[in-house]
Amino acid sequence: MSNIHGLVRPQLDEIILDPKRPLIISDADEVLFLFMEAFERFLAGRELWIDLSTFALAGNIKRLGTDDAISADATRALIPDFFAEATESMEPVPGAADALAALSHRAQVVVVSNVPVIQRDARIRALARHAMGYPVVANVGAKGGVVRHLADRVTGPVFFLDDIPHNHSSVATHAEDVRRIHFVADPRLARLIPASEHSHHRIDDWPTARLQIEETLAEAGF
Ligand SMILES: [Mg+2]
Repeated sequence: MSNIHGLVRPQLDEIILDPKRPLIISDADEVLFLFMEAFERFLAGRELWIDLSTFALAGNIKRLGTDDAISADATRALIPDFFAEATESMEPVPGAADALAALSHRAQVVVVSNVPVIQRDARIRALARHAMGYPVVANVGAKGGVVRHLADRVTGPVFFLDDIPHNHSSVATHAEDVRRIHFVADPRLARLIPASEHSHHRIDDWPTARLQIEETLAEAGF
């Protein structure tokens, strides 16, 4: 647990896993929730917009009606306010709840999200409201250590879904045996983010992700 943040360890201790069932570890923002759509609404409320011609926050948040970017410090300061304001009201990714409900017959699900720890309960409530009442880990930092820890607690196949390439790199480094699906729900972001070289599959919709997971489960005898 050396590369797991101190705020994350007690959350992992709370999670009950059946060692004999497969495990699906899913990110939330841009996998279960439409992060960018919510972020754009939040920005509009502050007379700001995000220029999605390149994949970065820094330099791309601009004053409404202009091409003038706000400073890197001002950009950083927006993120905690966004999660405080929007975590509970984000819309779910279409098909996510149905796919996870179907997969739950064959696997257990844990959400590992880098939502600020202080918003963990809000995220849990939002997931429950959208029929995704799965255990939630509010992670800090890259996800490899947490995925390693969870994967070590089960013997069946383990799957990891996330939109951020460096999380796939981290999981590939620390939990190479985990099946990694690079998933980016927002089609504009999906065009900007190339498939992670450290993922096994690039899939941006839940019906297809579900089929891929089911196929891998069947191959493994589950
Ligand atoms: Mg995400």
